[in-house]
Amino acid sequence: MSSRTALYPGSFDPPTLGHLDLIERASKIFDKLIVAVASNDQKSSLFSVEERMEMLHEMTRSLENVTIDKFEGLTVEFAREKNAQALIRGLRVVSDFEFELSLAINNQKLNPAVDTVCLMPSVPYLFLSSRQVKEIVRFGGRVSHYVTPEVEKRLVEKYREE
Ligand code: ADP
Repeated sequence: MSSRTALYPGSFDPPTLGHLDLIERASKIFDKLIVAVASNDQKSSLFSVEERMEMLHEMTRSLENVTIDKFEGLTVEFAREKNAQALIRGLRVVSDFEFELSLAINNQKLNPAVDTVCLMPSVPYLFLSSRQVKEIVRFGGRVSHYVTPEVEKRLVEKYREE
């Protein structure tokens, strides 16, 4: 059987332990996992694409079949370029489902050769989002349960700069 590659696209602004949980799960299912930072988001981001890639590199150093990349434009086009057969997405709570379903269906129309695989995180990360992590740090709270020490340090520095 030929090797199976999956692409995990996202904003990762910043990457959390919830993202890492999914990366670890997906890296066990697929031969190769490409974690790709979306760089053409209309959302304004706290960290640059390069900073987000650095944090992901640091978090996944021990995972040999995981690589970090970035992309612009359609996710399915990037998947085609990288010969990925699957897109990894996360489902935390029911409210994620509707968004992820419409995204998956639209991607299926654009490229039927790429399937979306949704994974659920472990319980401690069910209610964790990058947005909430940023809010907590902005108001002086600790997020050491939700991100790596390196990411927490960068968050604190970022808000100190502002
Ligand atoms: P996007 O802007 O593409 O939603 P995110 O970086 O917020 O980018 O998330 C990328 C993917 O990871 C999404 O499918 C999201 O549902 C999933 N995800 C984010 N946080 C978690 C978490 N704590 N547990 C599981 N999946 C998550």
